[in-house]
Amino acid sequence: MAHLVEVALPLPLFRRFTYEVRDGAIPPPGTRVLVPFHRSERVGWVVGPAPNEEVPGLRPVLSVLDERPSVPHDLLDLARWMAGYYVAPEGIVLRAVLPSALSDPARETLTLEAEAGDGHASLTPRETRLVEALRSRSGPARVRPLRRSLDMGSLWPEIRSLQGKGLLRHETLRPEDPPVKTRRVVRVRRWLTDLGERDASLGRAHRQRECYELLESSGGERELAELLEVGGFSRSVVKGLEEKGVVELVDREEYRDPFRDLEPEEPPRLRPNPHQEAAIQALIGELDGAKPRPHLLHGITGSGKTLVYLELLREVVERRGRTAIVLVPEISLTPQTVRRFHAWFGDRIAVLHSALSQGERYDAWRQLRNGEKEIAVGARSAIFAPLERLGAIVVDEEHDGSYKQSEAPRYQARDVAVMRAASVGALCVLGSATPSLESWENVRRGKFVRLSLPNRATGGPLPPVEAVDLRRVRKEVGGEVILSPVLVREVRDRLERREQSILLLNRRGFSSFVQCRDCGEVVECPHCSVSLTHHKLRRRILCHHCRYEEGVPSRCPRCGSGELSFRGMGTERVENAVAETFPSARIARMDVDTTSGKWAHHEILGRVERGEVDILMGTQMIAKGLDFPKVTLVGVVDADVGLHLPDFRSSERTFQLLAQVSGRTGRGPLGGRVLVQTSLPEHYAVQAAMGHDYEAFAGRELDERTVPPYPPHVRLANVITSSPDQSLAADAAREAVEWIRKARARGGDQEEVEVVGPAPAPIERLHRRWRWHFFLRARTPGPLGALCRSFAAGFTPRGGGDVRVIVDRDPGALL
Ligand code: ADP
Ligand code: ZN
Ligand code: ZN
Repeated sequence: MAHLVEVALPLPLFRRFTYEVRDGAIPPPGTRVLVPFHRSERVGWVVGPAPNEEVPGLRPVLSVLDERPSVPHDLLDLARWMAGYYVAPEGIVLRAVLPSALSDPARETLTLEAEAGDGHASLTPRETRLVEALRSRSGPARVRPLRRSLDMGSLWPEIRSLQGKGLLRHETLRPEDPPVKTRRVVRVRRWLTDLGERDASLGRAHRQRECYELLESSGGERELAELLEVGGFSRSVVKGLEEKGVVELVDREEYRDPFRDLEPEEPPRLRPNPHQEAAIQALIGELDGAKPRPHLLHGITGSGKTLVYLELLREVVERRGRTAIVLVPEISLTPQTVRRFHAWFGDRIAVLHSALSQGERYDAWRQLRNGEKEIAVGARSAIFAPLERLGAIVVDEEHDGSYKQSEAPRYQARDVAVMRAASVGALCVLGSATPSLESWENVRRGKFVRLSLPNRATGGPLPPVEAVDLRRVRKEVGGEVILSPVLVREVRDRLERREQSILLLNRRGFSSFVQCRDCGEVVECPHCSVSLTHHKLRRRILCHHCRYEEGVPSRCPRCGSGELSFRGMGTERVENAVAETFPSARIARMDVDTTSGKWAHHEILGRVERGEVDILMGTQMIAKGLDFPKVTLVGVVDADVGLHLPDFRSSERTFQLLAQVSGRTGRGPLGGRVLVQTSLPEHYAVQAAMGHDYEAFAGRELDERTVPPYPPHVRLANVITSSPDQSLAADAAREAVEWIRKARARGGDQEEVEVVGPAPAPIERLHRRWRWHFFLRARTPGPLGALCRSFAAGFTPRGGGDVRVIVDRDPGALL
């Protein structure tokens, strides 16, 4: 009798599927299989045997795709846990765990073996047709198009039979790397750093000047096509600049992966200081236990946490022969961080960054799976690196919001790291200068062990942080303030001393909204309930959520008045002000708009490192991980951005941002100073950042979250219903709450789960969908999880139509 297996498929359905294995043994769990599904074929994963009952109409597994399971045992368990905890179908989780190439049915190929010569007597007519079709092709043929062109239904019985006769090979194709493409880029050849020089060269050629300044703010280089499009320039503008010798046009290879050609470097001979040494010893000691406890490495900015990670990894990998994972926020995959790991471990590390092609990602995955690489360094999804004998997992900047995935499965990689480490007896180290309150609370409850690095590794104090009260400055200067007089003075001073400054404003664009002076209307996105941001260089207004854009309006869309005011400032506006105030300064801007090229932010940071930039300005991108000793001034242009978001984490995010950006200075013998412009100098997040006092912040914030209770005091699940139809979204939310109330009444300890809402979501409309939400709150995770799972599997809105229901456990925000 045939064997039956249960298969998880990457579909939004909370169930497994049963298939029959007609020949051979049952593939072990974690093995990929190709199965028929409706009228197509899909890649799924065997999750276990099914009860061997006679079920009519069962369909067969078409092919077993792995010789050895592509999902190792521990990852399969982890995926199962994630599916339950984050309320996501198992197949969707497994797809997220593996490189995308491995769940793509279009990658299945067939190759004829040499022995499949002419006149094979034992072939059936169908087999012969298949062999002939393959013979007429050179090299591997993809199954899908072959099946379509032969039009003889499923080929799999024939494929299996020919495979059995040794005539055919079936493989999963590695995705091809994109061909090396070159692109034309415009590069600054002669920097016009001096205003006089700029006037002399560009004179009254306004467009050339704008073009030059756009290039300057993009790090001195930009793709030609992009430059023309973004700035709306004609080719003749660039040509003019080229003729003046200011810029040149060059062809660049598109995939110049700066990590690939890293020169192996001597590791710096740093002797750990006593605090680092104590932390290293504590961690190494923990490796000896059967169940290492998670550790929180709480070290101020610049305290040398990296050296602690490196020494731990050396013990784990070199001396104990185990493997390790290092998670960093995506933007911290800067050459600085990666170079340090490279210097110590050379070829033993695989760097998984977002710019890898599908093929490169697949290669890195296979090298980790085969044991050719022993350390995986990467952003969120690197937590799924297929490593065996895992000894340690490091999560750097564990508080970072990017560890939470915003689509299904909506996992929090930091928490998954703790789970994965625990399940294989590995040590998990979470590092931060500003730990998340969740981790802080876990220390208080004795679940995590705290290690502390209270001093800067290079000696010297943390820089003094002073507030500049914008309310007062506005009165003094009689109007709006971008750069206060004291900030201007300090920047000028740095320019004179040839030191560097960092200016932060966590908002892109030129002005953040356009408002009618007559009727007060604010121009909104037609698809989202958010205002459109004015991007002056592009001459567009755009939506930062759905990317909708349109031309800059000249009249109010509601009353037709021509009196529009452009309000609220973004990085583009600050850059203008900086360029006007310090005409000879070399400025670089780093935000989403200037880093669209694959390696743009590496280029910008490289220039900062080489001392080619005097003022680096940008959004939160510049707040993390940078270690430049010549940065002696940090200015926060407006600390209040984000403080008033209707979200329970807004104070925490503000404190983290201020503390992190402050930490970018005072890293060398030159010292440093921080100026924070704010209209709320008395706010406790600002106050605590000024005092470098994490504990004071955490204490106060934990109080703030007591009534009404928010994490870490309670666990949350945010449920969002959305629909293009406003009333369908609202009805679905109301029905969902009703469903939950009934279910709760039935199931014992689920009574403790509290329902808050429903109400329209703070961002009421997004990507053309109206959104409602409510959230569930509970003291313990168990009953909350059980309720979420039965809800996700059992609830369907009565109204039908296009309604989506999302359950987001441990949400990053409630927006
Ligand atoms: P963190 O990640 O804690 O902010 P880093 O790991 O970036 O800090 O270290 C900050 C700086 O201190 C780096 O330039 C690093 O080379 C230096 N450093 C770290 N440990 C030592 C040490 N023991 N002796 C001297 N310099 C050190
Ligand atoms: Zn109006
Ligand atoms: Zn929009």
